[in-house]
Amino acid sequence: MKNTLFQHGTMQMLVEGLLDGTLPLAELLKHGDIGIGTGDGVDGELVILDGIGYKIDTTGKAVKLPPDFKVTYADVSFADYHDFKSYQDIELEEMLSQVLTANNAQNRFLAVKTNGVFQKIRTRSSKKSQKPYPSLGEIAQNQVEFEAENITGTMISYYTPKVFQGVGVSGFHNHFLADNLSVGGHVLAATMKDVTVSVQLLDNLQLHLPVDSQDFLDADLTDITKLDQVISKSE
Ligand SMILES: [Zn+2]
Repeated sequence: MKNTLFQHGTMQMLVEGLLDGTLPLAELLKHGDIGIGTGDGVDGELVILDGIGYKIDTTGKAVKLPPDFKVTYADVSFADYHDFKSYQDIELEEMLSQVLTANNAQNRFLAVKTNGVFQKIRTRSSKKSQKPYPSLGEIAQNQVEFEAENITGTMISYYTPKVFQGVGVSGFHNHFLADNLSVGGHVLAATMKDVTVSVQLLDNLQLHLPVDSQDFLDADLTDITKLDQVISKSE
């Protein structure tokens, strides 16, 4: 369906330590050609651009992924953006807030693509964990951060309304990929020097659960109190 956000897995699942990769990249790509996510055991930060999956590993560099790479959690859509606006010398938060307001998108899903020169960007990635998995909080403590200046690339963002916190990550979730693949990851902060922003309003959410995972089926997921505190620290 056009303008659909396809999501595999939930944030709650990650918070509860269900970190197995449960969907091959090739399957995920049937549902979108652009997106973000993470791999088996929180194996790096994923960026999907023009139908190609990349992983930003703990060196900060991006590598192309094979079709059988297993994805734990991902948001993808079919890119059909329209030009919104160009920005010069603007902070990430300010820009996203303007994009949200101008598109009256606070109560719906929104995909944003930001292309151009980033004056400064700080990103993060994590190392693949093995079973038995550490908590997402522990994984968050072992994440690696990267900084780059005057770097040209693409930031892929999805906005999720607050009510879906736990299903996804409420607010904006941004991943970056440099054109030359030298850096990328989950975006922590950025100042944009000269970028073009395009947007796509998404009318539908298609949530795909990892129903082939016995761990997921057997898990007790009834206590949702951990969600808010862990999400704010780790995603
Ligand atoms: Zn992320």
